[in-house]
Amino acid sequence: MTKMRALITKTLFLLMFSEYASAHGPHAHGKGELEITIQGAAIRGAFRVPMESLLGFEYLPKNEAQRKALDDLRQQLKSPATIVLPNREAECSARMVEATSSLFTGMAKGEHSDLEFRFSFECGAPDRLASLEVVALSQFRRLQEVRTVLVSARGQRAFTARKKDSKIAVAP
Ligand SMILES: [Zn+2]
Repeated sequence: MTKMRALITKTLFLLMFSEYASAHGPHAHGKGELEITIQGAAIRGAFRVPMESLLGFEYLPKNEAQRKALDDLRQQLKSPATIVLPNREAECSARMVEATSSLFTGMAKGEHSDLEFRFSFECGAPDRLASLEVVALSQFRRLQEVRTVLVSARGQRAFTARKKDSKIAVAP
């Protein structure tokens, strides 16, 4: 990849994410939004979802069971593989993960709260990267669909992953 091409890709990536942060879709229970960029051996992603879809509630915990559910979720979110899993043959490992929510900081005020999840993988065999499974759909019962945008050297594609159709083909 030329330097210019890399720069353009990087700029697009940043644009995409700033747009994502400011003009994301409406907060709709059961629905998440995922943006994934594949660049060489790197997979970067951002996932946004109502906390209700992960926990069944999205206010600060009111009892021990809810406190435990929130703690368990934080533990789960230490790995990006809780949300997205590249096919094994690509030998990808997690590089970065960042989970943000007003429920984690104790700052939840309104009726609603989102999870903002950013992650990256580095793949040992990127030429064998064939698919990404949106495992969040099987991990979280209330999550019904994840609108996904995939950006790669092949261009940009958008589609909706559902429980019975949770694999994103990387190569068309
Ligand atoms: Zn809500």
